[in-house]
Parts: sequence; C-alpha cells; structure tokens
Amino acid sequence: MRSLFLLAVAAAPCVAQMQNKPIVIHADRVLDGRGKVLPGASVVVEGDKITKVDPSGDVAATYDLKGYTLLPGLIDAHSHLTWYFNRQGRFHQGNDGDTPVQSMLSTAANAYATLMAGITTIQSPGSPEDKDLREWIANGQVPGPRVITSLGPLSQARMSPDTLRAIVRRRKAEGADVIKVFASGSIRDGGEQTMTDEQLRAICGEAKTLGIRTMVHAHSAASIKASVLAGCDQIEHGVFADAETLKLMAERHVYFDPQICLVFTNYLDNRAKYEGIGNYNEAGFAAMQKAIPIATEMFKRAIKTPGLKVIFGTDAVAGAHGRNVEELVCRVQAGGQSPIDAITSATALGAEALRMDKQIGAIAPGLQADLIAVQGDPTKDITALRRVMFVMKGGRVYKNDRP
Ligand SMILES: [Zn+2]
Repeated sequence: MRSLFLLAVAAAPCVAQMQNKPIVIHADRVLDGRGKVLPGASVVVEGDKITKVDPSGDVAATYDLKGYTLLPGLIDAHSHLTWYFNRQGRFHQGNDGDTPVQSMLSTAANAYATLMAGITTIQSPGSPEDKDLREWIANGQVPGPRVITSLGPLSQARMSPDTLRAIVRRRKAEGADVIKVFASGSIRDGGEQTMTDEQLRAICGEAKTLGIRTMVHAHSAASIKASVLAGCDQIEHGVFADAETLKLMAERHVYFDPQICLVFTNYLDNRAKYEGIGNYNEAGFAAMQKAIPIATEMFKRAIKTPGLKVIFGTDAVAGAHGRNVEELVCRVQAGGQSPIDAITSATALGAEALRMDKQIGAIAPGLQADLIAVQGDPTKDITALRRVMFVMKGGRVYKNDRP
C-alpha cells in the first residue's frame, strides 16, 4: 500500500514536466501507420498528442533514434490479459487457490509485458476484471495498453432473442466498449455454428441500434455467413472461411481478424500447462495442430480478397502476452503478407475497426502520441518488430531501452 503511494507521488512531477515541453523524436525512418514511409523524419509531441510531423527532420531532437524505425503503437484487436499461468505452472482457473489479488497482479504483469512489446492498445473479448484494469491503465497508475473491452462474452445458445437483446443493453450500460459473441464452437470442438441466425440478428441488431460494435467468434463458413448477414461488425478467427464468406465480409465492410500461428503454437508449446482443463485434451490439441495449415491457406486467400479489411489480433492467452508480434511475423513469413500491409493491419486499419482512427493508429497531428521504435527496418525485415526499444503511450515514455 505504502510503496504504491510513494510510486504515484514520484511519478507525478514527470507527467507535469512532460506536458509543458514539446518532445521531438527523430528516427532513420518514420512509418505513418497508413502505408507511408518517411525517411529521416521527426515527430513533435506536446502533452499527450502528436502536434507535428516534420519530414525534413531538421528540428533538434529530444530523442535521436539512429538506426531505428518509428511507428505508431500497435493495436491488438484480440487479447485476453486476464489469462495467466498460476503458481503451480498451470492455466489459471477460478478454483485453483489463487487469490483475486494474485490474479489481478498477474493480469497487470500481462498488461506490462504487452505494452513493453509495443502494443499500446488491446481489445479484450471480455472479462469483468477488464473494467478496473481499463481505468487504472487509463489513469496512468498501472502501465499497460489502452483496454477496449466487452466485459463479458455472450455465448449462451439457449437464450431467447429478447433475453439476448436485454443483455446487450445491460453490457452497454455497464460500460462495455464492444459486444463479444460466440457464433460458433471452439476450434477444439470443431467450430460449428452454435447461435441461430435469429439470435445473431437479435444481438448484432440491438448493438447496432445502441451504436456499439460487435465482435464475433466464428470458425465455420456457415457461422461467419450468418454473423455477417446479421449485421455484426467484426469476425474473429474464421479458420474455415471459404471464398464466398471472405467475399461477403468484404462486400459488407466487416473487419476480419484471423490468426494463423501464435495462438496455436502457444497452446502447443505450453500443452502441459493447459492439458486436462475443459476441451484442452488430446482431441483439442490435435484439432489445433491441424488448424495451422488450414488457417494459413485461408489467410493467403483472405489478403487477396479485394476490399477485405484484415486486421491484426492475436487471441493472446496465457503464455503469449508480450509475444504478440509473433503473429505478424508469421503472417509475413508463412502467410505471404507484405511487411507494410502487416504493419498497417496493426495500426491504421486496426484503429478504424475500433472506430478510433481519429485518436490512434497513425502518426499524424492531433492523434494520441502512441509511438514505438524498433531496431532496424520492419518494412524489409518484419522480425525487427521483435526489437521494440522505445515505447511512448499518450505522450509518456514507458520504455527507452536503447543500448
Ligand atoms: Zn479469444
């Protein structure tokens, strides 16, 4: 208690100073997050915002990042910060003896690891703890990425459309930023449609009326199609998306957030920590192993589908926090995406999907100063994203690890 108080007091003057004096960051190249590369540019930050991008780079720099590329903080559209391994080295469950404080500290550690890896905004498909986490991070009391959350998912396939509509209204009133729906089963259970078309129309229709976005877990082509036709805004996963559903998403301006690697390899690498819990069994792991090449081929078709907006989301669970960019590395190396498109999927396009493009996702005057610097040039070598040495969020420097 006492040490937390001292920390808060010590941090206060730095924030005040930062707000008065403009900060100038110069780098070998600046990626604006919308696909443009500005060699040798400088970015001016005042308070929590970017005020100027100077292509000449002539202004005296506060941070002269030689050998580095400056880009917008990355946006992960799907991350579960509350998922962690407990002190027995197992995937945390409600009845494993961990106290709520231990769980929250583990969540804070995940948030910190995520921010240090260059992710300055995450969207959480939902956990009640997200509400406080979002507030503490937003106040600058706990270091972490901005949190956009559904607070809880809707997965009960037996509920009537009226009940589902009422839950959507309640979630919004409770402060949810987005509504998360399970339209299909888990990939470990085959991924078939679980909610009816009518239920999906009730949820996504009500959300639309209230002006709140919907993100839908959907694997089978039928479940994706039903969700898109129901007016939902964003499709998650989509391992079994076919050409028709990819085209349909593009036509209806639905954002698509597939995963081809990190979520699967993380489960497989940490198998012993998950095995025996729920559907984390022999068949479940076999299904995930099998999904990797299928998802990769689907991703290759997705990025070639005209007009389809493919965004970056990792579905980071316990074991994956802080390694989020591995999904981008895979998308380029195994999925054939160009590095600049992969970066844009995690910046401007991700912000647009969150309807936050006026605040984040690009390096432009008036936007939040969410900036990261990586060693090298990620437009030539995507693995440069693994070398995040500088992180600023909302004008505040959280990491400056340059040698
Ligand atoms: Zn998820």
